Amino acid sequence: MNAGADKGFQLYRRGGLLYLQAPLLAECGNVIHAFSTRAGGCSEGAMASLNTAFHTGDEYSRVWENRRRFLGHWGFQPGDVVAAIQVHGVGIREAGAADRGRGAVPRSFLGEGDALITAAPGLPLTGYAADCLLLFLAAPDVPAVALAHAGWRGTLQNMAGQVAAALQRRFGADSAAMLAAVSPGICGRCYVVGRDVAGQFIEAGWSGKPYLWKASGGAFHLDLAAINEVQLRRAGIKPEHLAPGGCWCTSCRPDLFYSYRREKGKTGRMMGLIALRKAGPAGEVKDS
Ligand SMILES: [Zn+2]
Repeated sequence: MNAGADKGFQLYRRGGLLYLQAPLLAECGNVIHAFSTRAGGCSEGAMASLNTAFHTGDEYSRVWENRRRFLGHWGFQPGDVVAAIQVHGVGIREAGAADRGRGAVPRSFLGEGDALITAAPGLPLTGYAADCLLLFLAAPDVPAVALAHAGWRGTLQNMAGQVAAALQRRFGADSAAMLAAVSPGICGRCYVVGRDVAGQFIEAGWSGKPYLWKASGGAFHLDLAAINEVQLRRAGIKPEHLAPGGCWCTSCRPDLFYSYRREKGKTGRMMGLIALRKAGPAGEVKDS
């Protein structure tokens, strides 16, 4: 287990739903967050069962129902979902209260972008992954939250550092107060890349274990979580405020997770959710 793994994502069950939360964020008080698993949904076949993304070829009504089951545990409806079209870039979009529902149905999305930030309470930012990482960030001093999607392309372009910088630039967040948690994703042992991708990481300084090491046949193992953790620390996030990934591999656990690599592209997506809690009438913080 990694150092600090007890702060990282843990598996929980509520009714038929299995999901993960990071104690580091759960204990912060004003942040709602979760990462879904494939358990407890209504989709079938390769999408079985809690696929949360429309673009996978799943039936629209099943995705809506899966989102309803997952989001309902945190007081949200499928119609509340905020999402951008993930394009493996480092575009960052700010969402405001008026953007509620931008991502609830196909063609309603906020536009292209791989990270969302907001300071609006009660607005559920979502991201979608099946091997790629989702980075959950909270700036309790603002307060503000962010959710970023990082596969190899986003990692190579330092998505982690860019989204932390966006919270500072846009909201005046202090990186020394920021919290970050790295979602389940494909592990370095399962994730094998060719010379072309490996060469770009070597050029960027990510050579050797635990980041990039030789596999058989001239290929390389790439550990996205290990790199993203360093990038988050370089962005000023304190080690005690960082919940590492690497404990849950989406490819090693077909019972819990979809894996794009393992299923050769024909698979569903897990949803990452983060929101700021709404303050109650007396300024009291409670579930929305
Ligand atoms: Zn693995």
